[in-house]
Amino acid sequence: MRCPHCDAVIRLFSKALNKWGRVKECPCCQKKIKLSSSVKSYVLFFIPASITHVLFLKPYLAALSIDGGSFALFWYVMVLLLTFRLVDAEDDFDIVSRRF
Ligand SMILES: [Zn+2]
Repeated sequence: MRCPHCDAVIRLFSKALNKWGRVKECPCCQKKIKLSSSVKSYVLFFIPASITHVLFLKPYLAALSIDGGSFALFWYVMVLLLTFRLVDAEDDFDIVSRRF
């Protein structure tokens, strides 16, 4: 994933992204960023992912006698992770103060 401010690559499992709280800090430019998953990209990923799962993976897994249920969970979690993007959170405070 790339920082919306400085374009630095930040790994999903890096320390910077696994801090508590919604708003994180870019390890490169120290600006505020947050993870966001858009419904649109989820749907875009989910449809081909479920088709792939049902048509190709299920029979393959059955042939290998791998538990289909836990694999499906892993598969859909992967799809969900793919939809996450890093977005600018510098003006998050402004949004909150405007609302109240
Ligand atoms: Zn940055």
